[in-house]
Formats: sequence, C-alpha cells, structure tokens
Amino acid sequence: MDAPLTRTPLQPPVAGALLLHSCCAPCSGEVMEALLASRIDYTIFFYNPNIHPEKEYLLRKEENIRFAEQHNVPFVDADYDTQNWFARAKGLEHEPERGARCTACFDMRFERTALHAHEHGFPMISSSLGISRWKDMDQINGCGHRAAARYPGVQYWDYNWRKGGGAQRMIEISKREQFYQQEYCGCVYSLRETNRHRVSQGRAPIEIGVKFYGRGEAAES
Ligand code: SF4
Repeated sequence: MDAPLTRTPLQPPVAGALLLHSCCAPCSGEVMEALLASRIDYTIFFYNPNIHPEKEYLLRKEENIRFAEQHNVPFVDADYDTQNWFARAKGLEHEPERGARCTACFDMRFERTALHAHEHGFPMISSSLGISRWKDMDQINGCGHRAAARYPGVQYWDYNWRKGGGAQRMIEISKREQFYQQEYCGCVYSLRETNRHRVSQGRAPIEIGVKFYGRGEAAES
C-alpha cells in the first residue's frame, strides 16, 4: 500500500483498520487512492446483491478486484444473495431513486459491512457510495450510522469523499484506469427507469458491458 502523500491527510475518527464498503471501481477509485495517500490501513468489502443482472454485477466486481490488486489492497468478495435483496425491496419496486427502496438497499449493504467489521475486528466502516453526485449523502450517512450502532466496537466514518476535489479526481481516475462505466445505479428497477427515460429521449436502451471511461463519449456517472 504505497502512494505518494500529495493530499491533505485524512483524519479517521478512530485508530485502526477501516472496512470500506465498495459499490464499484469508479466510485471507490478516488476513495482508495485518498486512503492510500494517508497511509490508512483498509480492506475493501464488496457486498452489492442489488446489482442486476449478474453480468453487470460481475463486470463491476472484476473492475474493483483488478484495481485493488494493483494496489495490494485486501478485497473481501461477499455474498451475491439477490433473494435477500429482493425480499428487502418488496413493495418498494416503484419508489423513485433516493426514496425508501434506496434506504432499504443501503441499510442492507451497511448492515452486512458492519457485521463483517464486528466479526473481524475492524473498528470503523465507511463506503464509496456517497461520492456519486447522484446520491443523497444524508441518506447514505444515516444508513451507515444506523448499521454501525448495532455493534459497540464499530464506528461509521461519514467523511464526504466528494470534498477537496474528490468528485473530480473520481472521474480522472476512472478515465485513467478505463474503468467499466455503468449507466444506471444497479438494481433491476433503476435499470427499468433509466431505460424508460432513455427511450423517452429517443435514445437506445442500455447495452451492458460496452461502455468504458476514457473510450468514446464523455463520462456520465
Ligand atoms: S436505485 Fe440504487 S440505491 Fe436505490 S435500490 Fe436500486 S440499486 Fe439500490
């Protein structure tokens, strides 16, 4: 884990290793480099059973594994328990993004992250989820704090990863690494809504596995 210390050093809320929930390589690239630059010991926890279909899930995960290996960052490949995710989302199929289904989705992912932290001695958790400008940071932080509060020895680090140029670096790193560029949040309902919107604008539906940062048209994510 060695990257040059070229940024303002991060100040985690507690000493010890961080368990970083990652949703995908583009969102976690900047977070990972920021942590490396501050010499913070961390492990990636990839738990995203919301992602549909499996082809998209595997693409996002493999990109994240590739980047973690490049930096010698430990990577925990957690379950793809989609049935549990669909059970949590039941009745919320028509919620808008940033609504109640997303709260349930974040809760589920943070709860598993906090459990793993508790079982494996990580005193803090965080997530790359909040770096995307499409996300509601208060919603994400509420879910993170709620999950960590289940375990006395686990704290949620609610750092705003967009700060200090983080949002811009996220795009730069994605282009540099030519990460796979997802075009919807992740679940089957976000895919449905994004496609509806695209079709209403005269655009073709999403084709999975074809778009990469830095190759072709400008980044959207
Ligand atoms: S839109 Fe995104 S955050 Fe919301 S439920 Fe679907 S995958 Fe989860």
